[in-house]
Amino acid sequence: MIRLATNLVTLACGAVLSCFHISGALAWGDEGHEVVALVAQSFLDGDVRKRVNALLAADTDPLTAHDIASAATWADKFRDANVNNSRERTRQWHFVDIEITAPNFDEACFNHPPVPNGTTASDGPASDCVVDKIDQFAAELANPATDIEEQVAALKFLLHFVGDVHQPLHSSDDHDRGGNAKRVSAAGFSAGNLHHFWDTEFVDQLGPDSQTIASDLIGHITKDQQTQWQSGSPADWAKETFALSKDDAYGQLPAPNARGSFRLTDDYVTTATNDVGIQLSKAGVRLAMILNQALHKP
Ligand SMILES: [Zn+2]
Repeated sequence: MIRLATNLVTLACGAVLSCFHISGALAWGDEGHEVVALVAQSFLDGDVRKRVNALLAADTDPLTAHDIASAATWADKFRDANVNNSRERTRQWHFVDIEITAPNFDEACFNHPPVPNGTTASDGPASDCVVDKIDQFAAELANPATDIEEQVAALKFLLHFVGDVHQPLHSSDDHDRGGNAKRVSAAGFSAGNLHHFWDTEFVDQLGPDSQTIASDLIGHITKDQQTQWQSGSPADWAKETFALSKDDAYGQLPAPNARGSFRLTDDYVTTATNDVGIQLSKAGVRLAMILNQALHKP
C-alpha cells in the first residue's frame, strides 16, 4: 500500500515536472543559479557582502534556505509555488524572447512597461521582460527609501534574473518555446529537449556540484575578463546572449532527422559546455557589479 502511494506520488511529480518543462518557464536548473551566486559572492566588496548576508538573514520566506546560493533559486520556487498567483504574475519576468528570425528587443520586452506609481517592482506588470526587471530591482535595492521586505525581494530576484538573462535559450526564441519544442539526444545523455540540455545537462558537464564548479570558474576568470565583462547594461548582456544563442545553441544544431529530432555531435556538446562555463562566469561577475553598485556605502 505504502509503495503504491509512493509510486503514485512519483508519477504525479513526474507529470508536474514535465509540465513545467513544456511551459518553457524554467531557466538554469538550481545548480546553474547557485553557481552564478557563488561566483558573484567572491567578487563582492567586503561591506556589500555583509549587507547581502544581513538582508538574506532577515528573510522569513520558507521556500528556500537563506544562504546566497539557495536564495538564487528562490524566484523559480516562488513562481512554481503559485503564491498569490505568482505563476502568472512573474512567469514572463524570467526571459526575453528575442526571435531568432526577426529580432526585436523592444517587442520582446513588451515595449518596456513602467512600474506603476505607488507600487513596487515586485507588484509590477506581469508582461515584462527579465532585462527590465533587473533594472527595476537594482534601482530599488540602491534606494534607501525601499522598505526592507521589498529590498529582500529585490535582492533575491536579482540573484536569479542576472543568471537567467545569461541562459542562451532565455534570451532567444525560434518559435519553439525557447527550445522546449526541439527534441534532442547526444551520446552519453538521456534524450530531452534543447532547453533542458542548456539548463542542466551542459552545467552538469562542468563539475559534480555547484561549489566545485564555481571554485573552478572563479580560478579561471582573469582581471581583463572581469574588466571587460563589467561594461554595458543588462540590455547589452541580453543582446550578447542572444547572439551566442543564434551562433551556437541554434546555429550549430545539426539537421533534424526524419522524425524531426536533433542528434547533437560531440563538437556541439564541447562548444555548449564551454559556452555555459563562460555564461555562468559572466553572470557572476556582472551580478557582483550590480550588487556592489547598489549596496556600497559611500
Ligand atoms: Zn528563472
